[in-house]
Amino acid sequence: MTLNDIDVFWVLLCACLVWIMQAGFLCLESGMTRSKNNINVALKNICDNATSIFLFWLIGFSIAFGVPFSAPLGEDNYYLFHSTENTLNAFFVFQAVFCSTCCTIVSGAAAERLRFIMYPILVAIIAGLIYPVAVNLSWGGSLIDNGQGFLLEMGFYDFAGSTVVHSTGGWIALALVMIIGSRIGRFDREGNPHTIQGSNLTLSALGVLILWFGWMGFNGGSAYNFSSDIGIILSNTLIAGSASLVFTLILIHRRGEAPAPEDLFNGALGGLVGITASADCVTSLSAVLIGAGSAVSVLVTAKLLLRYRLDDAVGAVPVHLGAGIWGTLAAGIFCDLDIIGSGLGRLEQIVVQLAGIGITGLWAFGSAYLLFRLINTYYPFRVSPQDESVGLNISEHRASSELYELIAFMQYQSDTGNINRPAPTDQFTELGIVGMAYNHVLNTVRLKEEKLKHSNSQLEAANESLRTYDQLVAHDLRNPLSVISAYAAMLQEEPEGEHKHSEYVERIRRSSDDAMKIIRELLNFSRASHELETLKPVDLEEVLYNVRVHLTPLIEEKKAKISIDCKVRHLYFNEFALHQVLVNLISNAIKYTPAERVPSIEVRSLSDNGRDLVEVEDHGIGIDPEQLDRLFDKHQRVHSSVNTSGYGIGLYSAKKLLQSAGATINVRSELEKGSCFTLGFAPVPAQSPTRNTDTGNNNEPRPIA
Ligand code: ADP
Repeated sequence: MTLNDIDVFWVLLCACLVWIMQAGFLCLESGMTRSKNNINVALKNICDNATSIFLFWLIGFSIAFGVPFSAPLGEDNYYLFHSTENTLNAFFVFQAVFCSTCCTIVSGAAAERLRFIMYPILVAIIAGLIYPVAVNLSWGGSLIDNGQGFLLEMGFYDFAGSTVVHSTGGWIALALVMIIGSRIGRFDREGNPHTIQGSNLTLSALGVLILWFGWMGFNGGSAYNFSSDIGIILSNTLIAGSASLVFTLILIHRRGEAPAPEDLFNGALGGLVGITASADCVTSLSAVLIGAGSAVSVLVTAKLLLRYRLDDAVGAVPVHLGAGIWGTLAAGIFCDLDIIGSGLGRLEQIVVQLAGIGITGLWAFGSAYLLFRLINTYYPFRVSPQDESVGLNISEHRASSELYELIAFMQYQSDTGNINRPAPTDQFTELGIVGMAYNHVLNTVRLKEEKLKHSNSQLEAANESLRTYDQLVAHDLRNPLSVISAYAAMLQEEPEGEHKHSEYVERIRRSSDDAMKIIRELLNFSRASHELETLKPVDLEEVLYNVRVHLTPLIEEKKAKISIDCKVRHLYFNEFALHQVLVNLISNAIKYTPAERVPSIEVRSLSDNGRDLVEVEDHGIGIDPEQLDRLFDKHQRVHSSVNTSGYGIGLYSAKKLLQSAGATINVRSELEKGSCFTLGFAPVPAQSPTRNTDTGNNNEPRPIA
């Protein structure tokens, strides 16, 4: 090969354009893969660019362009180790970036599930063996006049590598995806495919445009000289890519579907792959037909892959293998036979093209499949399912991202149920704002949860009271009812007219009264509990007036004296409940004063340390200090010897009532001197119209009847 300086300049310029295609592949592939893997995909693109160029320099170039079947072993084949020759190195640069392209095609197809360490191994095999042999078959001997490639000698024509670069890459990619299997979730059990949405399709679109731009160098540089041929080469490249995209749109429209972004990307790239075999030797019209055929072959290959449940993450096989095969065949159909100069007739050329496609495919697919299978047995290509789920950014590179952190945070919350910590936020990033919005949602959930907890505890308390009252009812009613039943039986057995009749009837009447009293108390307590749900200012004097009316028979019977001193007139409580509590305390004060003394009771209200207090003091029999602790337990009858009716549930119920509305009850007492019960209430809230503004009682007390 003889190149003048302008040719060398042109080849190197085109090599730079082809190299830029690596950036296009990076954008295309990382955009078409999920964000949990996109860093991995970008890194593998950089990695396989470097590895492929190094291996191609070390071994591949010698195999590709040395004496067939002797390279790189023959002594003369290590050209590049010492070569300072300008033309040779320029040619190497152009061929090395081609090799990189082939390797990137393969790794793109297998993206999102490959262990990172396997990429260099994969690329070493492709760049050091499979690709160079494919190059040698079609283009070998073109560098040094020491024999020609096997297919070249047959008259096979592949101008810039539809088969040599693209189909070879496509065949290897096919072998690899068959061995490693599909990504988790790509196909369901029945084999139906599920779309795995790319993370950034805008980036992919940019990638396609960069590739298209670089393709000018791919095909333009393949002329290896700066001649007038370049015009038709570049125009065919442009036309075929465009025609392929337009036909893809028409085909998808005819299928009644909306075009997916991937269809558009692959439609354009398919046309570029298709024209690569014949960009220098077909007319513009042929380029359009080649583009149209490429569109069909890409769509058909993609369908075939789905049918056989083969998962190609970026559509590399349809684009590079499908359109590569078509483009190579189309070169035989549409080429100007004089330009390619194989000396074959049209039909013979087509047959040779088919042979080239078949032989290259056999080599690329066969060798890749065998080698990858072997390697996969000892060093699996694929990451573990856990790593695949977490994403290769994290599992392979420990490269976290905002999205991952947010997802990991949500995962932690759903695993542990702990929603107390807020999500990471940042008002300057999109995901940081998502975190803020999520925290707002969390706050609402927390509030709801607290309300729920509160209602739950109320429900539990209510349940507990209900259980307790069930027991109380059973326990307290049992005594009077059993008395009634026993005396009724005795009455039945007693002959009529006997003197004990009236005594039995009297017992039955008293027990019925007791039972009625208990039932009344329980009903009152239940009503009071219910009413306590709404608290409001209660006029203490009015309540005391009603208590007095209620207890009139007892007061009159015992001739009790009650004095009232209300320094705080309004209490924040419930009228009915307060009435119940005071009836209990005042009646106890009367009941537990020895018969020989006149019961004297003082009721006071005052404000102390921010609480409103009500004291009920008597001068009765008092309570043993040791028994004060148990006084509010149910069924506590401290003075069981004292002959008063009672079942020990009054104080228990009063305390429950008060506590459930945040009020308190305490007692101090001295035996034989008397007792003082103190009720404590939260003050009336500020906004209430009846708030007690001072501790003095400016209102005239209502006269007690
Ligand atoms: P009872 O129905 O038995 O009166 P309570 O729950 O109201 O039930 O009172 C429990 C016990 O506390 C009473 O049996 C009595 O021994 C004692 N007690 C209550 N109030 C007084 C008081 N003012 N003076 C002395 N002992 C009292």
